[in-house]
Amino acid sequence: MSKGKIKNQFDIQDPREQYPKPPFPKQPQPRPGLTHEMDPKPDHGEESYQGTGRLKGRKALVTGGDSGIGRATAIAYAREGADVAINYLPEEEENGKQVIKLIEEAGQKAVAIPGDVSKEAFCKEMVDKAASELGGLDILVSNSGRQTAVDDIAELTTEQYENTFKVNAFAQFWICKAALPHMKPGASIIITSSIQAFNPSPNLLDYAQTKACNVAFTKALSKQVMNKGIRVNSVAPGPFWTPLQPSGGQPQEKIEEFGSTTPYGRPGQPAEIAPAYVMLASQEASYMTGEVVGVTGGKMPY
Ligand code: NAD
Ligand code: MG
Repeated sequence: MSKGKIKNQFDIQDPREQYPKPPFPKQPQPRPGLTHEMDPKPDHGEESYQGTGRLKGRKALVTGGDSGIGRATAIAYAREGADVAINYLPEEEENGKQVIKLIEEAGQKAVAIPGDVSKEAFCKEMVDKAASELGGLDILVSNSGRQTAVDDIAELTTEQYENTFKVNAFAQFWICKAALPHMKPGASIIITSSIQAFNPSPNLLDYAQTKACNVAFTKALSKQVMNKGIRVNSVAPGPFWTPLQPSGGQPQEKIEEFGSTTPYGRPGQPAEIAPAYVMLASQEASYMTGEVVGVTGGKMPY
């Protein structure tokens, strides 16, 4: 969906003009949201991402790999030479299938593991299945997330508060705990946090707290597992054009102007963040652990 005709992600162009800017149409859809329902269509690098063998032979699990940031990461990993397992919710099967096809078209093994990460037993089952079907686990991208905007604390229910923490914070603990026994020196864990950890919006009280949890978890776990030669880092996105936002993550009037508060005046596209996940997964980032890499369109929250 890039505006200019780019051949691949290395082509030089003006980043201000690279992708659509607001206003965008209102486009409510039920959670968890589907990527093909979005207008304009997000760019996950389907047409453009060109691999250079940076993850050759690696085995990766990407949660939330059907759409948005996880989908762009799964595509990039496969084109960099990794076999990839993706997790998503059963309601997202259509998006999941598209990603499985893209991984296979890159000549790599693809494994689909649909299921709900808010359940501890499923998290362990998912990780064990990924490791057994892929024949190991070198890269874990803990990326699934849930975001529901509520303006007033008086309207924020305990049920929502719990669900947000289950998916965004507890699942990370369960998934990483299950993944570490499969990992060898050189393995990499990447956790999707958010600009919200540092500069929270008033209507994302529960969500912003879970994203701060993600940052503290990254830093503490990185110190705990460096003695095993395993790196743990986080990517903190600014506003990205994904189904998370129109499916309840933002009120519809905010969708119309989504990304306008960045110096670029536009949201990021998933294809623009996947390279950060590639770098952190690859051996090129051998001296990086406990880091939070911001990809925020210049919002600079920290
Ligand atoms: P997305 O909707 O495309 O991806 C989120 C995915 O989470 C969904 O596809 C779904 O598969 C998964 N998910 C949600 N609940 C689940 C559950 N109970 N069980 C299993 N999977 C579940 O949106 P995205 O923006 O690509 O989100 C990816 C990550 O990026 C999230 O952690 C989100 O918090 C974070 N993030 C997004 C933005 C943004 O502006 N889009 C900004 C900062 C951080
Ligand atoms: Mg999805």
